Amino acid sequence: MRIGVDLGGTNIAVGLVDEEGRIVARGSRPTKPERGYEAIAKDIADIALELIKRSNLSVSDIKSMGIGVPGVADSEKGIVIRAVNLFWIKIPLAKEMRKYIDLPIYMDNDANVAALAEAVYGAGKGSKSSVIITLGTGVGSGFILDGKIYNGAHHFAPELGHIVIGDNGIRCNCGKIGCLETYASATALIREGKKAAEKNPDTLILKFANGDINSITAKNVIDAAKQYDEQAMRIFNDYVKYLAIGIVNVINMFDPEVIILGGGVANAGDFLIKPLKKEVAENILFKELPYADIRKAELGNDAGIIGAAILS
Ligand SMILES: [Zn+2]
Repeated sequence: MRIGVDLGGTNIAVGLVDEEGRIVARGSRPTKPERGYEAIAKDIADIALELIKRSNLSVSDIKSMGIGVPGVADSEKGIVIRAVNLFWIKIPLAKEMRKYIDLPIYMDNDANVAALAEAVYGAGKGSKSSVIITLGTGVGSGFILDGKIYNGAHHFAPELGHIVIGDNGIRCNCGKIGCLETYASATALIREGKKAAEKNPDTLILKFANGDINSITAKNVIDAAKQYDEQAMRIFNDYVKYLAIGIVNVINMFDPEVIILGGGVANAGDFLIKPLKKEVAENILFKELPYADIRKAELGNDAGIIGAAILS
């Protein structure tokens, strides 16, 4: 048994994970980052100890605790280098945790951790190399090689959301213009959906949002595209085109065995993956060689806890 912690800006989710990657007990509490890291560390330990007790186990039955953090972490030193949403800079999280629970503590970026879970137990099971790209509010990513997270020499790789795709004039949260995130996040679909609804109030996108332009979601745009709404189809086709450019870049860099798509937009399933594969095939460098299979993530939100638990 191992403990996996999915530490988010809003919620702390903790799970007891067995050797087959199943979550056998779980608990959560609100993060409330304003209270500082000491209180958060104590909460993580409290939940973990409660789960161990509830499962009739003791700490000695647990191999390790892994924590997925919303930022950059140095697992060897046990330090969270930076976590913007938690207002953390150089936080000695492992040391703080061990005041309450005597276990080896590992940590890594939350997207890397989710990538590890998918590579070992999810859509990438059995593969030697995989890249996950999460299409959510932002675009997250992780690279797994031989069952291990590759996070670079300075612990922040990969940041595929911030590879520059083109000059779309949209400024990313990172300050640059034209990052993959500004093309391929759920936020990008919402932004384009709103623009289209302003110009063409008869679009189904607006109808699906009950006529309220401010409540347009990425799903509204996708659902309208499925109904052959002209505006939504144009937005979605562009979305696929630019995501494919990003994926071809990733293939050119890493040539992974599998590319896994996670996050809310990936829930579109084959409606996204079929045209995406076609677009990638048209733009791939070596057309005569095999290349990465593109698949939908399988573990959903549980990937955070499961991946953290198997950190080592
Ligand atoms: Zn960026």
